[in-house]
Amino acid sequence: MGFTASALRCSVPRIKGISCHVPGIEEAGVTHTRQVRHLPAVILTAFCALLLVVTYVTPSQAAPREIDKQPTATGYGGAVAALDPYGAEAGLDILRRGGNAVDAAVAASAALGVTRPYDGSIGGGGFMVIYSAETGEVTTIDSRETAPAAVEPDVFIDPETGNPIPFQERRVSGLSVGVPGLVRGWERALSDYGTMPLHRVLQPAIGIAQRGFVVDDEHQRRTENNLAVFRDFTSSSDTFLVDGEAPQAGTVIRNRDLAKTYRLIGRHGSAAFYEGEIAEAIAGAVTNPPVTPGSDRNVRAGEMTTDDLAAYEALEHEPTVVNYRGHQVFGMGPPSSGGSTVGEALNILEGFDLGEMEHADALHHLIESSALAFADRNAYLGDAAYVDVPLQGLLSKEFAAERRALVGDVAAPKPVAAGDPWPYDDGDGGTAGDPATTSEDGSTTHLTVADKHGNVVSYTFTIEQIGGSGITVPGYGFLLNNELTDFEPDPDHPANAPAPGKRPRSSMSPTIVLGPDGEPTAAFGSPGGARIITAALQVAVNQLDLGMSLPEAIAAPRLSNLNGASTGTEPELLNGPEGAALRARGHQLSQLGTIGNVTGVAFLPDGRMQAAAEPERLGGGAAVVLHPSD
Ligand code: GLU
Repeated sequence: MGFTASALRCSVPRIKGISCHVPGIEEAGVTHTRQVRHLPAVILTAFCALLLVVTYVTPSQAAPREIDKQPTATGYGGAVAALDPYGAEAGLDILRRGGNAVDAAVAASAALGVTRPYDGSIGGGGFMVIYSAETGEVTTIDSRETAPAAVEPDVFIDPETGNPIPFQERRVSGLSVGVPGLVRGWERALSDYGTMPLHRVLQPAIGIAQRGFVVDDEHQRRTENNLAVFRDFTSSSDTFLVDGEAPQAGTVIRNRDLAKTYRLIGRHGSAAFYEGEIAEAIAGAVTNPPVTPGSDRNVRAGEMTTDDLAAYEALEHEPTVVNYRGHQVFGMGPPSSGGSTVGEALNILEGFDLGEMEHADALHHLIESSALAFADRNAYLGDAAYVDVPLQGLLSKEFAAERRALVGDVAAPKPVAAGDPWPYDDGDGGTAGDPATTSEDGSTTHLTVADKHGNVVSYTFTIEQIGGSGITVPGYGFLLNNELTDFEPDPDHPANAPAPGKRPRSSMSPTIVLGPDGEPTAAFGSPGGARIITAALQVAVNQLDLGMSLPEAIAAPRLSNLNGASTGTEPELLNGPEGAALRARGHQLSQLGTIGNVTGVAFLPDGRMQAAAEPERLGGGAAVVLHPSD
């Protein structure tokens, strides 16, 4: 990667007694002002001119350029797949400098916070699944947002009408902002499983934020979709708009506020974010959103305090795991529903020989299993610190057999009812709640990293909607999440009602698959709201049942049933023979432009790594390896 503060530090000679101003350098964290006592003015002027030249022509600080991207890369030494080439290159840069997969994942995540600021950032949270080559074990870091202490179960009920506040009003408000978890998650992952300090892995991202990046079509489109919201907040229009409009593809934009924020975090650790000026600015933006004067948007304030921020903890949990045709499929447990729902659906599917079926028949079974697993997910999944989640029962082969018996040759009428996993669980028992709603839209980003030691990281993070709450923290360059809209607005929903300190249920499904020998075969994940789950499930089935390589499994057309009457289906399946065959089995299909945006890394039998991203969907992703072999 190009320009970093450490690169600049080398290019600025330390000469006692010089004082001159080099724009941009102070933002790079480099001390450049020194007192002049002895040198004549002419020498001083000459030195400053030279310094400016050195600063601006250093190759590592060349003008921001568009980075070429490719959806697949195969080779050795380390691999990164991300939605965006700046993120992938930032991860690769850290691998090249000797960092491990965790170091590189944090670096890539920070870079994506600059170039994909509406998808996931330090204003939100995420889930990291880590395979350690040293121990052969898989663990997870939960940096999901928490509800502030003042949040009541009826927080999303309009006191005037007694009904849930409409989604867009919940979203664009201080009410929906959860205490961000990402920075504590980074710190925990680095201290327990990384090798580099935070300030080092943040360097590539600081460089991009400071120097700028080239806007692509996706960024322009996403900004345009958020234009009305961003214009209604002074901080968001200052940070993300250019003269009140979306930045155009091909132009360069910077985020110096975010560079400053990253530097503060790098210097002082997560305390710089959770205490002091940034924490105060976050709490201030939530409790008193910086609404543009004259805006007529009704922006409800939230009640986050600096104590809520200071109390935030990233947690380490056991992963979920199911054995599927001799592979171990690891995922994220509560508060995410990703691991349990992917796992339950796989357990149901294990009773069918999908590889021997016509593609449409395999898809029929995929739809039916997804619907059954979603019925259970909607009924039982929530933050396990607050509700009894029958995780063991949901993931048991016996419960799957009971659910599998409901899969027939034709489509079951949907929604299907939740089952009862409690008899297969050692926990305290409980009852199913009413079926919950499932959100379909969303932003989010997933990145996957492998290093030369064999460590693997599968990392999904988000600010919930594309653009989160729409509220940027003034002066610090990042958007706040609207993650609390992932709670059910209905306070009577037992598993996923809001509560103080509780983490809303997620669908994020970062996945790692180990083969029969216990070595990783693939890792992947996706954005896409609740359809994250079906995207991850389908990629797993495409590889483990249908014999596809990871790039093929990612590129293949998808469909997705969330236990609704209709199955969202991408055009290639909808309009092809599969669509006709599925309709003949009684399935109702509706067109979805795209489902998910997957990235992953596969481990090939010959010892090579293969990073893979979308070749087409949403403009395509970026895959890189340290030493390409093709
Ligand atoms: N908030 C969603 C979740 O945690 C992810 C955002 C999305 O892609 O919708 O499941």
